[in-house]
Amino acid sequence: MPAPAQEREPENFPDFRFPWRGFWIVAVTALVTVSMILVSARTGHHMTAKYAPLVDAAMEMRLEATLAHLWLEEILGGDESETYDKVTEHIDNAFWYANAMLHGGHNSEGDFQPLTEAGMRDGINAAVAKLEKFREISQKRYESRYEAGSGTPIDVQFDEVFRDFSEAADAVETRLQYLIEQKLHSFDDLQVLLVSGCLLLSMIVFSVYYQAEKRRAQTLGQLKAANQMLDRLSVTDGLTGVPNRRFLDEQLESEWKRAARGKSPLSVAMVDIDCFKAYNDCLGHLEGDRCLKQIANCLRRHCRRPGDTVARFGGEEFALILPDTSAPKDFLESLRRAVEELQIPHPCSEVSANVTVSIGLSTRIPEPGAHPMALLKAADDALYKAKQGGRNRVEDGATGSGGS
Ligand code: GH3
Ligand code: MG
Ligand code: MG
Repeated sequence: MPAPAQEREPENFPDFRFPWRGFWIVAVTALVTVSMILVSARTGHHMTAKYAPLVDAAMEMRLEATLAHLWLEEILGGDESETYDKVTEHIDNAFWYANAMLHGGHNSEGDFQPLTEAGMRDGINAAVAKLEKFREISQKRYESRYEAGSGTPIDVQFDEVFRDFSEAADAVETRLQYLIEQKLHSFDDLQVLLVSGCLLLSMIVFSVYYQAEKRRAQTLGQLKAANQMLDRLSVTDGLTGVPNRRFLDEQLESEWKRAARGKSPLSVAMVDIDCFKAYNDCLGHLEGDRCLKQIANCLRRHCRRPGDTVARFGGEEFALILPDTSAPKDFLESLRRAVEELQIPHPCSEVSANVTVSIGLSTRIPEPGAHPMALLKAADDALYKAKQGGRNRVEDGATGSGGS
């Protein structure tokens, strides 16, 4: 039985409760994701801030010592315009950068954070010791500039000490680059870890959300099924299981409109069990109920076309809607006989030994302004005539002809 479209009140949610669980899931997810991004950004920033100036410092240390070496060579070459102060200044600068790597420092180029790695510090200390030797030998070489020329032992020693320092400074740079590479690898690992953490968290959140959605869909499905059941119950007669009066009214209205659109005939029949009061009186109300169910089932079996409707009109009366039926009276006659053929014994009937029905029929092609209730009324009038005519018969309200 197709349930009619039900008008529903717009839903409101008096039982609405704030979804704290969802709120906490989203809050924790957001917090963890933001923390991960911050850790990643902070680590990256920290690495850049720490190691970029240190690489500069290592290069500057070597550069300043090289400049000191060049200036002294210049002076030794006879350039009277230069003073030894320049050499001292560059060596001091080289020391400054070495100290900046060991203890930190600040100059116009930026902030230098001290290196904490033991291996690195040892390397820088070794370079500083060699720089100290370079300072000493530079001083001595400067002082012996008039008596010792190129290729003299002090000159050779001066170059050797500088070379020693250069190698130590080289080692510092190489070790620093290696250290940075290691740090970058660790940073990459951290990034992979953070991204995996984010992915894992997303999957957990998705799984929780999926489960919640599934439960919600199940609950909704159950609610929908319960609603459909309620809808069906609200238009079903409890005793016989056929549609009730409410459904009949709605169905008649829509079939009436459909017939009006198609300019096709619409038939309505009222079916009333004959002498049913006497049936109850003779056999009891429970038997009466059983009989009502049998008749309802018989009507339902008989009216099988998709548009046909069988409804309990009230008491022991049923109403049929038969859209676009070519010979409705013949059809109803066969229906009347089908009830007879059920052979439900009726010991107290005035009409027959078995239960019989009287049927009133009315057929119209809906006209503008006409109301479907008029059709129902005409069928009821025809039923009255059928009763008056002796019962167990079909009376056609349109023609006024009857007969059993
Ligand atoms: P008629 O041939 O003129 O139709 O006579 P009738 O006795 O069938 O009609 P009447 O209107 O006098 O009585 C209808 C009876 O149907 C009365 C009532 O007790 C019975 N009836 C109505 N609804 C039910 C029901 O749900 N169960 C049972 N067992 N009886 C019902
Ligand atoms: Mg009756
Ligand atoms: Mg009646």
